[in-house]
Amino acid sequence: MGSLAMLGIYIGHKLYGSFADEPKPEYRAPVAVHAGPPKAEKPAPKIVDETPLLYRTIKAKVTAYCPCTGCCGPNARGITGSGDAVAPYDGVAAATDAVKYRTKIDIFLPDGTVLKKEVDDTGGDMRKAWKEGKYHFDVRVPSHEQAKKFGVYHDAEVRIYDKK
Ligand SMILES: [Zn+2]
Repeated sequence: MGSLAMLGIYIGHKLYGSFADEPKPEYRAPVAVHAGPPKAEKPAPKIVDETPLLYRTIKAKVTAYCPCTGCCGPNARGITGSGDAVAPYDGVAAATDAVKYRTKIDIFLPDGTVLKKEVDDTGGDMRKAWKEGKYHFDVRVPSHEQAKKFGVYHDAEVRIYDKK
């Protein structure tokens, strides 16, 4: 009787006790199974210029001038109101109370020509016009001949790129 009980304990140990000694199975994260072929890569995002071209459109009188003393007075010395050299003739004079130095403008002439200019000069005529609430731009050209030939536009459309 005694030996039978011992046998029971022995079997019990063999059947259950031994499990405690075995290493527990490691936990493994489930492996993702892809259904179907891998998806095509997303197209690269388009790079867009996030600076919108903000401008206002006004009507202006547009004339031209050259760096001569006839156009710029006896003290003309080849330097604009903003301190630029007069060449390479990409500048325009404006009333800087109305349109600040360095502002880019597009002047649309009736024949379809678009003059892309930057305000870098000023003049008495422009300031006088602005006192009356009118815009006047004076486009700088290399020669007095060209300035005269340019003539006067009274109602030219002008885009002023000064909006933020
Ligand atoms: Zn001139």
